[in-house]
Amino acid sequence: MNTLEEIKEQDHRYLMQTYGRFDVALVAGHGATAVDCDGKEYIDFTSGIGVNSLGYSDPIWARAVAEQAATLQHTSNLYYSPVQGKLAQRLCELTGFSRVFFGNSGAEANECAIKLARKYGTETRGATCNQILTLNNSFHGRTVTTLAATGQEVFHRHFTPFTPGFAYAEPNLESVKANLTDQTCAVLIELIQGEGGVLPLEPKFVTALSKLCAERDILLMVDEVQTGAGRTGRLYCYQNYGIQPDVITSAKGIAGGLPMGVCLCTARLKDVLGAGMHGSTFGGNPVACAGALAVLERVGNETFLREVAQKGSYLASRLNAMDGIELVRGMGLMLGAKPKQGSAKEIAAACVKNGLLILTAKDVLRFLPPLTITKEELDKGLAVLEQVLAGEK
Ligand SMILES: *Cc1c(COP(=O)(O)O)cnc(C)c1O
Repeated sequence: MNTLEEIKEQDHRYLMQTYGRFDVALVAGHGATAVDCDGKEYIDFTSGIGVNSLGYSDPIWARAVAEQAATLQHTSNLYYSPVQGKLAQRLCELTGFSRVFFGNSGAEANECAIKLARKYGTETRGATCNQILTLNNSFHGRTVTTLAATGQEVFHRHFTPFTPGFAYAEPNLESVKANLTDQTCAVLIELIQGEGGVLPLEPKFVTALSKLCAERDILLMVDEVQTGAGRTGRLYCYQNYGIQPDVITSAKGIAGGLPMGVCLCTARLKDVLGAGMHGSTFGGNPVACAGALAVLERVGNETFLREVAQKGSYLASRLNAMDGIELVRGMGLMLGAKPKQGSAKEIAAACVKNGLLILTAKDVLRFLPPLTITKEELDKGLAVLEQVLAGEK
């Protein structure tokens, strides 16, 4: 095994340096425990940014993936794929959505939603009805178009020209109303802004927005890339808000660690995108689909989801009780905690040194542990955090 120094040297020499990495190289894991190249163990409160829903290398998930890889690892979308069909049916049955499109990432799932909205708008309300409203402080991906959709100035640099057709509003009804025009075909929102600092939208605002969109035949599209796949204690976060979006997108945790993005739409939108209008070489890859089926087998279950909600409440209450924490927000196992002192980034780095992997978003510590994390594992991680916050480590 290479040493950390050798791994870092190789990384710095051969990779575009697009990531600010922590000083750790992870090589293995099991459950909510990650192992680095020196054999040191870490409690994982990150699941790789909300991806490893079932923890590291869950044996049932790993077997499903390995069996599919050994049977048929890929086929072009020119042929029917039973595993793709099975996953699509399962997703529709569990959510009530009518059709799905498979891509490979959150950004791609959102690209599909954006294309669908523009086609729907221009077909039903005229050639100029192609504008999409998003919220300030949002995050929708790293492609040129999803960067344009992202309502943060810092993301609108360097790569001009960006895709036109996006407007941005504050997360309140007045601002949304002020920014809607006859040319708006859709509103795209995250119900909890993850990268923006784990900021949940006000339920009243979301209900009113949903009503407004329905009245004006504007599609309500929810980016559930981070909030989806059981993360907030419901399979999708919109269920916590009691609304019915027209389109949702899902990625991150959906396939338990394999690249997958999904765009789901309701019955009235099922034929908006037809043959030849959208596609992806890898989209709906059988190995990724087998991983997603294994995830849904566990996560698409009321008892499992209730446990996610309970573990989330426990984590939130433990954090709230900590001297060094000013406030806690979020839902289920998607939480943000603002430290009273010190920068979130520095606290996260100190946690890593002491055996706890933890994320940040803006000025908060961000918690996205595997959905399967146990109370004992939560306690173990929280003990590290508590000591770091107290300046004992
Ligand atoms: C992570 C994220 C994305 C982008 O997903 P990628 O798989 O990195 O393309 C989009 N939207 C939200 C809300 C996200 O959290």
